[in-house]
Amino acid sequence: KGVIDDCSCSVETLDSFNNLKVFPRLNSLLNHNFFRYWKVNLKKDCPFWEDDSRCAIRFCSVQPCTDVPAGIKGTGSPSDKKKSSKLKDKNSNDDCGGENDLGYLNTTLSQESIDGFERWAAHDSVMDSFCDLDDESSADSEYVDLLLNPERYTGYNGPSAHRIWRSIYQENCFKPSRSSSPYADFSNIGDMCLEKRAFYRAISGLHSSINIHLSARFLLSDKEGFVESKEGIWGLNVEEFQMRFDPELTGGEGPLRLKNLYFVYLLEMRALAKAAPYLENMEFYTGNEDEDRDVRKAVGDFLNVIKGFPDHFEEGSMFNGGLQASKLKTEFREHFRNVSRIMDCVGCDKCRLWGKLQITGLGTALKILFSGNFDQPPDQQLDMFAVKQTKFQLSRGEVVSLFNAFGRYCSISWGISFLYTRGVEWPVCP
Ligand code: FAD
Repeated sequence: KGVIDDCSCSVETLDSFNNLKVFPRLNSLLNHNFFRYWKVNLKKDCPFWEDDSRCAIRFCSVQPCTDVPAGIKGTGSPSDKKKSSKLKDKNSNDDCGGENDLGYLNTTLSQESIDGFERWAAHDSVMDSFCDLDDESSADSEYVDLLLNPERYTGYNGPSAHRIWRSIYQENCFKPSRSSSPYADFSNIGDMCLEKRAFYRAISGLHSSINIHLSARFLLSDKEGFVESKEGIWGLNVEEFQMRFDPELTGGEGPLRLKNLYFVYLLEMRALAKAAPYLENMEFYTGNEDEDRDVRKAVGDFLNVIKGFPDHFEEGSMFNGGLQASKLKTEFREHFRNVSRIMDCVGCDKCRLWGKLQITGLGTALKILFSGNFDQPPDQQLDMFAVKQTKFQLSRGEVVSLFNAFGRYCSISWGISFLYTRGVEWPVCP
């Protein structure tokens, strides 16, 4: 309950907006093929330490995916590959004839220059990126069906999991300056500037999301009173949730961690709204014309709804103030990239999959908010993207991860309200 830290909107406002408007639309969208398959490399070595034994817990395995639509893989007709990843070029049709359209560029530039543009574009895109993205062309990168591999309890625990979280918080989050111990105390984050607080809040919100999902889809058949079955019985474990978020059991930290979840929700929703002119012009190409048309329409409707939210996160107040701010932004980006690399050290494939997806989604949101490509008024953005089709790019993987990562937070907000209406007591901020 109450106002979300470093934002101007309340948990209650966001819950009701989410449950009435956002969750139903996004939930339906994420069932479509475009958003369902995500290409990821789960075989990369951990770049930071060597001794991480991959866990052999049964519930950590990720089912391979065999029937990805050809349009998504880019193996349909010769032009499919291009279509599957490119922006739909509304402004560059032959009869629009403006100075700035791509048709003009195509007739005046040699193929060599266009290739050159594309190389710059790839370079620019890497510079803008907040994540070390997987190389999709690597033989180790494979499509995963997210619906068949839901995020849930896996049993991943103990030193390996703790090492990841510790390394993220202690070595990559910014620490309050007063903290002298190697284990930073984040209870005094008010001493840090907004940008550094935002970094911590976003990570902490994502951590809350992971731990809520494992509590909401817990392996109940291991508990007394449930019959063991081969597939397991999965469901809500309220005690697990309370252990992690109850104020008394967490020294008051639990409710603050829940609020950070709402913070990261707002941050990603703002990124989606800001990137709307770009996203509204994507093909969402899978090779199935009817489905692609439905998805484009549903994405448009979803983006219109979130654009109408009155209390968006205000990223304009971050990284303002000349050289100092620009140095801080570089540092922020480097720290976040490091977190994305740490995901390759997660010792459980299922956790690694969803950890990578959610970090990529959050990194994509940061790229949208802070790359400077969306800072013009929306009516001028379309022209810019048409011309710079080769400059600012979001890959299919980035778009899919952003929508799915946001979907995680939307389903929690919906789930919490669902339980609340059924009388389950929820921890509140003291
Ligand atoms: P942990 O969650 O391991 O937390 C470690 C410490 O961090 C806590 O003691 C507390 O001091 C602090 N902390 C906890 N929550 C927060 C927060 N929100 N904000 C700030 N500080 C916090 N397990 C699964 O069953 N399924 C999964 O899909 C899954 N995915 C994972 C993905 C990643 C990337 C990682 C690193 C772990 C994942 N895990 C998953 C493991 C899970 O997150 C926990 O690490 C595990 O359940 C052990 O929990 P714990 O109670 O020991 O505390």
